[in-house]
Parts: sequence; C-alpha cells; structure tokens
Amino acid sequence: MKIKIPLPLVLILVAVGGILTFKQISNPVDRHGKAAYAHTEGILACGPRPADSEGLKKAQQYISKQLAQHGWSTMSQAVVRNTPLGEKTFVNLIARYNVDKLETLDDLKTINTTGILSAHLDSKLIPGIPNFLGADDAASACALIIELAAELGKNHPELAKQLEIVFFDGEEAFGENITPSDGLYGSRAYALSLYDRQPKPRFGIVLDMIGHKNLKIAVPADTDRTLYKALLDAASSKGYEKHYGIAQGSIIDDHLYLNKAGVPTIDIIGADFNHTHWWHQSGDDLDLISAESLTISYHTTMAMLIELLSK
Ligand SMILES: [Zn+2]
Repeated sequence: MKIKIPLPLVLILVAVGGILTFKQISNPVDRHGKAAYAHTEGILACGPRPADSEGLKKAQQYISKQLAQHGWSTMSQAVVRNTPLGEKTFVNLIARYNVDKLETLDDLKTINTTGILSAHLDSKLIPGIPNFLGADDAASACALIIELAAELGKNHPELAKQLEIVFFDGEEAFGENITPSDGLYGSRAYALSLYDRQPKPRFGIVLDMIGHKNLKIAVPADTDRTLYKALLDAASSKGYEKHYGIAQGSIIDDHLYLNKAGVPTIDIIGADFNHTHWWHQSGDDLDLISAESLTISYHTTMAMLIELLSK
C-alpha cells in the first residue's frame, strides 16, 4: 500500500525532524566537558574556599598539581588587606607555561604575555551557610581553566606560552555586596602588576558562573566591542551562539581593575545571576553544574583563545 502524505504535512514532518535532530546534536558532552566537571568535583572536595582558609589552600594545591602535569608552573602573589572582618591575607595563584623560573612578579615581567585568562577561586563567606561551596561561583570556571590549560599545553604550546593564567582570591566581599572597599581584593592587587608590563597584554578574559546546567551568558554592556565580537564569533563557529548575549548594564567583577590597568578584559558571566534562587545560596552546589554546559564553555573559550592568541 502506498500512502500519500499531503505536502504541508511533509513540510511539518521535515521541520519537526530538523528540530529533533538539532536538539540531539545541540548538547553533546565530550571529554573536555567531562574533565572540567571532574575538576569541579575535585575543587569542591577541598571544602569551602573563603580567603585565608584551609579549603582555599587545598584547592590551590589541587590546581597547581593538575597544571604541573601539563607543563605549567605556578607562583603565589600574597597581599594583606584590611577588610570588614579585620586584616586578611589574599593569595592569587598565577600560572605560566614552559618557563624556567616563576617565583616573583618581577619574573612575570620577563615573559611575553599576549592575554590573560582568569577566574576567582575563593568562595563567599556567608553567615548562616557555613558549607557554602560556590560550585558555579566560581569553582566551575577554575575547573574549566585547568582543562583549557591542559589542552593548550598538549596541542598548542606556542599559544600556551603567550597566556598568563590567574586564579584570583578575594573576589567575594565579606559584606553582602561588593563595594569600592570590599571585594575584588585579589584582582585589584594583581592588576597593579600590569601597569609596568612592556608590552602590555592585549586582552583579558574573566570566567564566572559558566557551568550552570541552563547556560545563559550575558557579558557586561560596557564590554570592549572587539572582545565581544570575538566571543560571539567563537560561539557561532561551534553552533553555540544562542547561549551568549549582552547584559543591560555594567557588572562589578574581577575584570574591572584589569580594564583600569589598560588591559581590555571581557567578563564571561552567567546572565541575571543576582535574580536566581541559587546565587550566594546553599543551592550553588554540584547539582547546578552540567558537563554539557562545561562542554559549551570549553569550546567557545578555546576557539576565542586560539583566535586572539594567534593574531
Ligand atoms: Zn559570588
């Protein structure tokens, strides 16, 4: 028996088939997303990571060990700052690929740097939530950087050499919100080291909340246009453009002091984070993170890095 399907129905079936196929291929998980997910677990296993804590030290050791396996050396930049809770020591972890000596900030001046890739490792100290983990704020971003660094070291060593990686401490404020005198302690201290770099790094990338299972990124409205275009081009080249957009206004995050130091820096950050039920709440745990989203963030950031570092 031959069934004749009317043309409009054929078109509908084709369209539905197309959508289904698109859905199936739009959220693949690959080994990079899986690795970044495993590193998120590894960082969270260190416990809460507020500034000056054992958990933060453990997480820094975890990261240094992972990076060392792929040719990256690490150094610490420690600064003491006054906070609403008294004096605290903040420690940024800085990584460079294939260098002989990396002990002081002066050593960094001798190494050519085209770009900076960064995220904050500290988790917020929140009264009433003693075990706050900050899985997406921002362990997932640090975990993704470990995987990006591993792949760059293995397959793009010439690009890896031009990249400086920084895991900031003290992004989070001790008060409820970041103010001019509370929060961004680590990135502010690190940015001071950029003023006398010659030549200055050409760009910076900050990753924050890039592993959420419903990935939606909105960069600050005042983002450098060239970097925003580089992000959209990178996302489009992988078919991920629907996950990326721009926010209504500016955002206070670690990119601020890098921009002030003359290094145009894009903050690739989860959209409307401050209107979610999990931001700075106990819900910011591993359940929020997906290997699918980390796969998307991995390929978009990698494509962007390859493009910007190859110029
Ligand atoms: Zn936060």
